[in-house]
Amino acid sequence: MFDHPSYDHHEGVHFFEDERSGLKAIIAVHSTARGPAAGGCRMWDYDTGEDALRDALRLSQGMSFKNAMADLPLGGGKAVIWGNSRTGKSKELFEAFGRAIESLNGSYYTAEDVGIDTDDIAIVSTQTKYVAGLDTGAAASGDPSPTTALGVYRGIKACAERAFGTGDLSGRVIAVQGVGSVGGYLCDHLANEGAKLFIADIDKVELEAVRSRTGAEVIAPESVYDTDAEIFSPNALGAVINPQTLPRLKAKVIAGGANNQLASPEMGFAVQEKGILYAPDYVINGGGIINVAAEISGEYSREWVMTKLDTLVDTLGHVLDEALSANEPTHLVADRMARARIASSRPA
Ligand code: NAD
Repeated sequence: MFDHPSYDHHEGVHFFEDERSGLKAIIAVHSTARGPAAGGCRMWDYDTGEDALRDALRLSQGMSFKNAMADLPLGGGKAVIWGNSRTGKSKELFEAFGRAIESLNGSYYTAEDVGIDTDDIAIVSTQTKYVAGLDTGAAASGDPSPTTALGVYRGIKACAERAFGTGDLSGRVIAVQGVGSVGGYLCDHLANEGAKLFIADIDKVELEAVRSRTGAEVIAPESVYDTDAEIFSPNALGAVINPQTLPRLKAKVIAGGANNQLASPEMGFAVQEKGILYAPDYVINGGGIINVAAEISGEYSREWVMTKLDTLVDTLGHVLDEALSANEPTHLVADRMARARIASSRPA
């Protein structure tokens, strides 16, 4: 484990197996320096246990960085359940997962991620109080996507201000990849401001819904990289900025809600060399975890969430300005800032 390429001084990596329900899960706690580790649970049909472990290690480190940049009193962690989210779910499985979380005594809080919905989390909550993202309850925060999308929208404006000299998006040509929860709400904000939208998704129902209410132009998923857009906004998959796609992009800004947009850290350098301003994903998409953090605090306050979102947008601005003035890639500046924030919270 200590030699694993994705291991980054994680505080704990916990493996759980429950024979009766078939649960196979890994909970990776990267850091609790700023508070209990928080991050969603992903259910995915990994090819190998090694793939599941790599995902848990990388995602939990990403949550430490994201929570630090959102200035939350939370560390970073992530859970992965190895299984098919369409065929492998059961009440027993999520009860066993809830017991696993409870056994960590509050060092890790879970919530929804890919493959996990509010019904699953409701079952988990029968076994442990260390959950968030619930639909009901005194502090329930519900769907984080609208807050994520609002943060991404404001982040795009911050990027536009630096790249084009104005944050006004009216008439700005923007290609949005993925119009699901985050991308859909994002398109509403962008269309309201008068941006010219191109949208791509593999889900025709989502596409039609967003097209009909925003007037966006639908394009084929593969052609999203070739559009004459000034801003490219990835809101679907990870690793979309890679050696195959980057040469095709004409945009001056990459800013979207998707996690892990850079296929590798080297792509952050390549993006900068091409003169593109990239909003580090875990900074610009921190709105959702802010919403979740309000629930973890035990008292959901929309006002607190909005204040934190203001701070997050300012932080993104600092990252962009520092990178531009030092001629450094933005991902490098953000990583350095996140690590410094985590280190300064660590007890001496
Ligand atoms: P979602 O599943 O609601 O939406 C994703 C959309 O991407 C779907 O409509 C899907 O059909 C589409 N898609 C999949 N493959 C595609 C392809 N090849 N080309 C174009 N579109 C494709 O998920 P979401 O909650 O909107 O999350 C989107 C991204 O944002 C994910 O990377 C997620 O990890 C990240 N994120 C989400 C939140 C949140 O609050 N939901 C917070 C932070 C980060």
